Amino acid sequence: MLEKKLESALNKQVNAELWSAYLYLSMSYDMDDKGYEGIASWFALQAKEEFEHASRFMKFIGETGGKVMLMPIETVKQEWKTPQHAFEDTLKHEKVVTRKIYALMDMAIELKNYPTQSMLKWFVDEQVEEEDTASKILEKLKKIESSPAGLYALDKQLGKREE
Ligand code: MG
Repeated sequence: MLEKKLESALNKQVNAELWSAYLYLSMSYDMDDKGYEGIASWFALQAKEEFEHASRFMKFIGETGGKVMLMPIETVKQEWKTPQHAFEDTLKHEKVVTRKIYALMDMAIELKNYPTQSMLKWFVDEQVEEEDTASKILEKLKKIESSPAGLYALDKQLGKREE
């Protein structure tokens, strides 16, 4: 049985994950506009993953007797000066998401809701990976900052990301 307080917090997280999908979709189209097709495709897959995160939360809410409440999704930024700016925002955003997951875990522990703790464990691990991936790409981008050839190669490499 899902406590009302936790049900509401998990529904907010559904919204946050959908907002993440929106953000990465926006980055994807902006990068495509700027000629970075590989990076655009990387962000499109990232958006898809965020939608899957939202789905995971929705499924759990349903399974534990809660009600899924879909709320409006706030608008996102539409343009980034360079791929580096997009990945700086990506890393910043993933750190915010990590704090949200930790806050949910704190609540689940406080309420002694073990199924929620178990479900959230997957997200704790996932966030380690998300932050690591974003920070590694950002480091590469910083190194090749003023090299069009380097950027071209990285764009190609990121375009090879598979689901
Ligand atoms: Mg996510």
